[in-house]
Amino acid sequence: MLIDSHCHLNLLDGAADASVLAQYLQAARANDVGGFLCVATDMESLSAVLNVADQNADVYASVGVHPNHNDGHDPSIDELVALARHPKVIAIGETGLDYFRTQGEMRWQQERFRRHIAAAKLTAKPLIIHTREARADTLQILEEEQAQDARGVMHCFTEDWATAKRALDIGFYISFSGIVTFRNATALQAVAQQVPIDRILIETDCPWLAPMPHRGKPNQPAYVRHVAEFVAALRGSDYGEFAAQTTQNFARLFHVTV
Ligand SMILES: [Zn+2]
Repeated sequence: MLIDSHCHLNLLDGAADASVLAQYLQAARANDVGGFLCVATDMESLSAVLNVADQNADVYASVGVHPNHNDGHDPSIDELVALARHPKVIAIGETGLDYFRTQGEMRWQQERFRRHIAAAKLTAKPLIIHTREARADTLQILEEEQAQDARGVMHCFTEDWATAKRALDIGFYISFSGIVTFRNATALQAVAQQVPIDRILIETDCPWLAPMPHRGKPNQPAYVRHVAEFVAALRGSDYGEFAAQTTQNFARLFHVTV
């Protein structure tokens, strides 16, 4: 059984219609997916995220504001802590730094990131980290804020081994998305072979980044199976063992029973 450790179910095409969303979830369950972490990106859509989790026993949720979201409500530590009390919320994020899509003065992004780390430590809920063109600052802030007390996952990992190693050293997990299946992703594939098996998670990050053979089309949680099959084969592992191991990793990191 697999877990899609990072998906945006509320953002899937047509998902505002409950019957359409139910079809996506059914297709995933038929593809060996037994759990979903629906990740928040802003405060404005948080109720949609929490609704999906409330209505489906196998869907969990997170609370946080994406680093690229700069025109909405920016929650305080106290607000994040209060929102994280919701019974289906198991993580804080997605948070982090993105110097690719957002440029200019980045202090606001770094301060938001530090608030999320503080909330994760106060609630003992792990962090979901997004980093793009910002690996040095991301690692430095995680270390400065002692994020190892909360732990977390480097989601949709696309960085090098040195970055993975520093994240592993502070107790973080590494999550691979469909990007690892792309033909030109040879450097990332080498990293995926090197990460210890007890620290790997898998995800779709749907509706974006569909894995091969669906690259370029809308992504959906059923496709996490392609990521799992690809990384298992890359590592010379049996698919069933790899699936069971990554599912155990998810349960251990996020303190849930699956
Ligand atoms: Zn995401």
